Amino acid sequence: MIPTQGWTIGSLGGVEIKLNPSLLLIAFLVTYLLASALLPLAVPGLGALIYWATGLLASVIFIGSILWHEMAHVIMAQRFGIPVMQVVLHLYGGVALLSREPERPSHEFLITIAGPLSSLFLAVLFSAFSNLTGLLGAVFSWLSQVNLTLALFNLLPGFPLDGGRVLRSILWQLGGSYKVATRQASRVGQVVAFIFVAFALWMILNGSWFNGFWFLMIAFFLYTAASQAFQMAAGTALSMTTTVRRVMRHDVPLIEPNTPLALLAWRYLDHARDQAFPIAHHGQLVGLITSAEVDKHPRLEWGKIRVEQIMIPASKLPIVSPDHSIEQALNAFDKTGMNHAPVVEGEVVIGMLNRRDIVYRT
Ligand SMILES: [Zn+2]
Repeated sequence: MIPTQGWTIGSLGGVEIKLNPSLLLIAFLVTYLLASALLPLAVPGLGALIYWATGLLASVIFIGSILWHEMAHVIMAQRFGIPVMQVVLHLYGGVALLSREPERPSHEFLITIAGPLSSLFLAVLFSAFSNLTGLLGAVFSWLSQVNLTLALFNLLPGFPLDGGRVLRSILWQLGGSYKVATRQASRVGQVVAFIFVAFALWMILNGSWFNGFWFLMIAFFLYTAASQAFQMAAGTALSMTTTVRRVMRHDVPLIEPNTPLALLAWRYLDHARDQAFPIAHHGQLVGLITSAEVDKHPRLEWGKIRVEQIMIPASKLPIVSPDHSIEQALNAFDKTGMNHAPVVEGEVVIGMLNRRDIVYRT
């Protein structure tokens, strides 16, 4: 499981920042490693308290570096109009919870690459200070290495790591299908996990217990995360208590039933993705029109056909309330076999919820 639980430690630009307990364990290990081994080795002869205080400071900056990486994803996502609900910092880095997937491969590519690039930037910045004498130089040199590792680790082509997402955006661009690309990228993620297992076993056999065990944990994380991503692409592994209101799309145009397809296509459809619009008369829901339904009809007839003639009637739709949980919404999707649900409050249509409106991003 990708850790998404944690203590809220604050908020940044409207995004809730959470700390998963696993990161505290790592922060403690890092402090211990620095205070008891790395720092005394680099700069011998100082008091234990100095080593511990410096180690603690370094591990706080280390956590800050992970937050920095996630915020790079967040800022880029917000630039493309994707709201971000929260960032969870954990053992293997962080997760930014985006309210929906990017709509184009190029958006996904840019949102993803922003993270490793921001870590590389920190690596370069910190290395500029690593020539300082004494403890500061040693700490900056360590921080530089850690950020470089963070950038490179995240660029491994294992979905859902950043590298896997970069791979998916490229496959998506090449093949045109988001779902197929997700499946392919998460398969590659599982293969990368197996390579890690082999590597870990090799290290353990060579007596490198600690590193071997560490790699085994990473392999386990990669494998479960890739499998989860694979299932999520099929829309089955989501069980969140988040309300529909937080992930739904609010800025959805209501289509009048007598609108010709040509007008709908011209004004709203971009055919880059799976789109759906609620059809309403005086604010009352009467049905739903999807780009898939529109595409079933030849383009030449779009001027003659009105949306009400080919719409999916309201009686066949999963209709959700903004106060429903994501789990309830998914049940409604499954019952009707649909991937789109109008969100209705009272009697009024206030937005849309699509099956892929919740995703995790590392
Ligand atoms: Zn990242």
